[in-house]
Amino acid sequence: MSFVVAIDGPAGSGKGTITKLVGEKLGLMNIDSGATFRCVALNMLQENIKLEEEAKINEMLDKINIEMKENGKIFLNGNDVTQRIRENDVNNFVSQVSTIKIVRSKLLNVQRNIAKGKNVIMEGRDIGTSVFPNANVKIFLDASAEERAKRRQKQNEEKGIKTSYEEVLENIIDRDKRDSTREISPLKQAKDAIYVDTTNMTIEEVVEKIIQIIENKKECD
Ligand code: C5P
Repeated sequence: MSFVVAIDGPAGSGKGTITKLVGEKLGLMNIDSGATFRCVALNMLQENIKLEEEAKINEMLDKINIEMKENGKIFLNGNDVTQRIRENDVNNFVSQVSTIKIVRSKLLNVQRNIAKGKNVIMEGRDIGTSVFPNANVKIFLDASAEERAKRRQKQNEEKGIKTSYEEVLENIIDRDKRDSTREISPLKQAKDAIYVDTTNMTIEEVVEKIIQIIENKKECD
């Protein structure tokens, strides 16, 4: 039986960093579900497919190949897109793409298949509510929008991606709104998820807290 930890939360809440570190420490495979939506958004941009072009989207989804390597690299149709999917055009398009029903149902299968039979820690928006409603541990990570924009801006700088703080904050507020108000699988805390506000916490403190929650859960099971 596999062990599943679901980490949900808004953009910039620290899900990526925390999931990676906790996964490494506990030997859980780290799966970034947002990257699968980013791959679909990038593929649509590459093929110039519009949001309303359902037939073309269907055709593209039939052919799409998304791979997640153990070293964290993401491949779209055989090409390494690890960096490319973090750029501004994808940032600004991805949450619209994620509201499309056929995209979500296709990616639900992709995400479940990647995790099949493994012990995983998966991060996203609807992991605890929809992808793995029976996950062993569910965490909802949050932080103020300003703190999240600050973190994202720093991350972008480190990756050499040029953006202003204002631009990042606007994108984060915009995405939060769209992600939490969409009809299918909105960003929402699962009833049985543990809420962790990371605004005033260091990365190390959050990692320690999450590990504690997971270890407690293992002891109770
Ligand atoms: O986590 P990340 O910021 O990379 O996610 C990109 C976008 O993908 C989110 O803004 C959201 O619209 C969508 N997403 C989603 N469900 C998930 C993960 C991401 O709708 N489980």
